[in-house]
Amino acid sequence: MAKSIIIIGAGIAGLSAGCYGQMNGYDTRIFELHDKPGGLCTAWKRKDYTIDGCIHWLVGTNPSSSFNRIWRELGALKGKDIVNHEVFIRFEGSGGKALDLYTDVDRLERHLKELAPADSAPIEEFTAAVRAISRVDMPLPRPREISSPLDGLKMLPRMLPLARPLMKWRKVSTAAFAERFTDPLLHEAFSSFMDLPDFPLLGLMFTMAWLHNRDAGYPVGGSLEFSRAIERRYLDLGGEIDYKARVENILVENDCAVGVRLAGGSEHRADTVISAADGHATIFDMLEGKYADAKIRDRYKNKPIFEPLVQVSLGIASELEGEPQTIMFPLASPIEVAGVKHHRMGVVNHRFDPVQMPEGKTVLIATFTTTYAYWEELYRDPERYRAEKQRIADAVVAAVEGRFPAIAGRVEMVDVATPVTYKRYTNNWQGSFEGWLLTTGNMGESMARGMDKTLPGLDNFFMIGQWVMPGGGLPPAAQSGRDVIQIICHRDRRPFTTSEA
Ligand SMILES: Cc1cc2nc3c(=O)[nH]c(=O)nc-3n(C[C@H](O)[C@H](O)[C@H](O)COP(=O)(O)OP(=O)(O)OC[C@H]3O[C@@H](n4cnc5c(N)ncnc54)[C@H](O)[C@@H]3O)c2cc1C
Repeated sequence: MAKSIIIIGAGIAGLSAGCYGQMNGYDTRIFELHDKPGGLCTAWKRKDYTIDGCIHWLVGTNPSSSFNRIWRELGALKGKDIVNHEVFIRFEGSGGKALDLYTDVDRLERHLKELAPADSAPIEEFTAAVRAISRVDMPLPRPREISSPLDGLKMLPRMLPLARPLMKWRKVSTAAFAERFTDPLLHEAFSSFMDLPDFPLLGLMFTMAWLHNRDAGYPVGGSLEFSRAIERRYLDLGGEIDYKARVENILVENDCAVGVRLAGGSEHRADTVISAADGHATIFDMLEGKYADAKIRDRYKNKPIFEPLVQVSLGIASELEGEPQTIMFPLASPIEVAGVKHHRMGVVNHRFDPVQMPEGKTVLIATFTTTYAYWEELYRDPERYRAEKQRIADAVVAAVEGRFPAIAGRVEMVDVATPVTYKRYTNNWQGSFEGWLLTTGNMGESMARGMDKTLPGLDNFFMIGQWVMPGGGLPPAAQSGRDVIQIICHRDRRPFTTSEA
């Protein structure tokens, strides 16, 4: 008889685990609190406009890369066009000059040297590392939980070109590297691209290498369509999803997970339970903190997360042609969000997605990092909450109209999502959009395929998704779903098999 698996959450991790579970003969059932799939990988409608809430770049879009196999198995990109941008970000400095972050590393190097000939040395060091990384097609190894030293040895030759950049840059943050530039524009740009505390330079280098390989494109149709494609694959494989089904407790008997209890009180049992939902809620609410040791408690108390976002989306009655997809520009008057003054703003022009955008129109999206506590408190007073969203929206409209005078008076739709919005729709702790912040300290853990997927003392239970994969993102979420089914197959002495959609 097929063994049963309950999966909590139909985000990308949960859907992925569901698909691989079905491919391997398990009876899987997903319980999802929202009324649609995707979790953070979503989009929503306002008037004529579709607001995309997630994908800027998706690793694995190049059919020749190893990771693409996972998207093929999940049917995620089937029939979709991929947009590979020429310029990833245009950075406009406070001195009036602009830097284009070209995705082609040779072009980028030439451009940076033209802008700052005196900084040739750090420019060449940066681009040399990006080239070295781009030569490595990261294989899909067996999950570390079931791999042997021999598996590691087999991977070694393919990973060898990474040795030099990893050794040289593993402890260097983007901010520290920016200090190497004497040119004010390069200094300002490299300080701003990944404006996160202790963000590893290697993170930026890997991103640029994937972009250079045209392996980090944008799937036309956007985030919700991407999630729906995986949902279709899951249903085609015979999986079952219950929407509007919030799991309140994980049922445990004799330190074994045996099922879940939903908000309405119904109980559902299975041989194995996988939580692909928020890590904090899983450990401290659904399991009431009974399986959290000191290390886990310390992590959730002290380790930095990707701070949540305020996302302001504007529907514009203009295509805003001729501008790169992302522009970061200085603000004439700073915009204050939760007590922090932002002196520059990044705006994404979604015109590159012809499926999402109505003809003659576009959506511009600006995001600001912020703190959860501020918005949680404000949300208790609906009047103040609404007024604050309106104040920020007005400031963003003024800034955008100042930067793109051609669209003045053409803003037809304004939508503001705050950390409370993210929390309400996905239950992510502190409204975080990517889980644990990637730092120079945990980059190694991230490359070694994440944190433990089990909790001490609890059997038949696994955790997957962004809360066990530092740095988060869609590929690690999907991969953790694949990994966990490989681990379960290994436990059950079944061969792990996959198929393509
Ligand atoms: C603005 C933004 C931009 C991003 N850009 C990119 C990008 O360009 N590239 C990239 O790779 N990544 C990007 N990400 C990150 C990426 O979206 C996430 O890391 C990834 O989607 C996490 O997937 P997940 O399945 O682990 O978690 P989630 O998406 O959080 O899924 C968890 C699911 O569990 C459900 N759930 C929670 N609690 C319960 C419960 N009690 N009962 C039932 N269901 C429950 C939730 O509703 C949700 O559907 C971005 C995210 C945001 C918000």
